[in-house]
Amino acid sequence: MRRFLFVVLFAVCCLVGYGAYAHTVADWRLAPDPRTAVMDTRIEPVEAEWHVPLFKGLFYKALARQSAVSEEALGSMGEAPLSLSLTLPRGFASRVRISREGELIFDERPGAWEPMTLGAGAYALEIDCSAPKTDEAAGYGSFRYRCAFTVEPEPEPALLTGRTTPEQGDIVSMRLIHVPPGIVPRAETELGMAVFTPDGAGAWRVAIPVGNAQSPGQYGVRVFAGDKSFDVAITVLAFDFVEQNLIVDTGSSAINEASSPAAYREYREKIPPLFDTYDEERYWHGVFAVPAEGRISTEFGTIRYTNGDYSRSRRHNGLDIAAPEGTPVFAPNAGRVVMAERLLNTGNTIVVEHGGGLKSYFFHLSRVDAAPGDMVEKGALIGAVGSTGYSTGPHLHYEVRIGNRPVNPSMLFESDAGLYGAADEEEDAQLREDFRGNGAEE
Ligand SMILES: [Zn+2]
Repeated sequence: MRRFLFVVLFAVCCLVGYGAYAHTVADWRLAPDPRTAVMDTRIEPVEAEWHVPLFKGLFYKALARQSAVSEEALGSMGEAPLSLSLTLPRGFASRVRISREGELIFDERPGAWEPMTLGAGAYALEIDCSAPKTDEAAGYGSFRYRCAFTVEPEPEPALLTGRTTPEQGDIVSMRLIHVPPGIVPRAETELGMAVFTPDGAGAWRVAIPVGNAQSPGQYGVRVFAGDKSFDVAITVLAFDFVEQNLIVDTGSSAINEASSPAAYREYREKIPPLFDTYDEERYWHGVFAVPAEGRISTEFGTIRYTNGDYSRSRRHNGLDIAAPEGTPVFAPNAGRVVMAERLLNTGNTIVVEHGGGLKSYFFHLSRVDAAPGDMVEKGALIGAVGSTGYSTGPHLHYEVRIGNRPVNPSMLFESDAGLYGAADEEEDAQLREDFRGNGAEE
């Protein structure tokens, strides 16, 4: 009998001892980790209680804890409209309450969280998760989360302008930022074609030509981005164009053919229709490179008359680079070849669209190494210098137009050209980098 009592006493001691031990070691490590998140940011409970089962649920050890803060400050979650995503813990029943500026706007027990769109404002979010006591001798308890965050107002579209006092032949560039998705901005101006091309997330860029024949004075540009519009005043300054008397052998049959009515008719049929076309994508990037090595024999915009006859003076719309026949001609920037063929007046001709209607025209080539539809990178070999068409010696006539307005190619070789204005700081740094890469002197 005493022996039996001793065994019972020993068993009770073991049980109590183990119970005391189990009770002592039962801590939060035995509680679940609910993994609750707001916009992928893990949040911690401000209050939690959990009952850890002991002896297969014979009794429970209650754990409770409280965070030092009554609400977790998450700061800004981004710009409106914000699609609020929540990660609710699996295996818990959750109640979600959201208030905006103190007013309750959501109070539900969602099974699964469907993203909710929030406007700008200050928000308070409360999530109560609970797991009820069950017969399976599992733990039970609840977790409460409270956090505060803000949603920033959606920024209004903003217009950045480059230099607004261009010289004749320069380009005015503008950049629109914070353009809502689905809105394609446009610009209206009498200066010429103005096509916006995408320039990063929510950003667009336009290059507006100031042709060589644009009279100095005041002009306006109106930019539309959805129902918002901007008016920009442009002052065109005079550029000092040079004059040149061109001596041409009127007895030359090649020259006569290249300047025949048939040659001009063909030019009118082939070249001006290109002026109205554009690609909506911008291919060019960084400073334009000089397309051929050589000596500038005729500057852009030169007022040129032939054999002393000033009454029939014409504008030289491009830049002539004199170089030996066969000197390679490179794409000055990336683009899409839109023409590669021989014309009577311009000889072997290549036209490259750089996007938004900005095009490079290469005339009088001896050889054409590109075909329409080719995408060319900056520096790609596209042909060679020659003297085909209306030409008195081997040279490259390099012309740049936006729409029908000829602009000054020499300016494009300089990183401070109007085309490169309105860039952001990062782009500015890239432009300077490219510019050094071209081997040019600053
Ligand atoms: Zn020329």
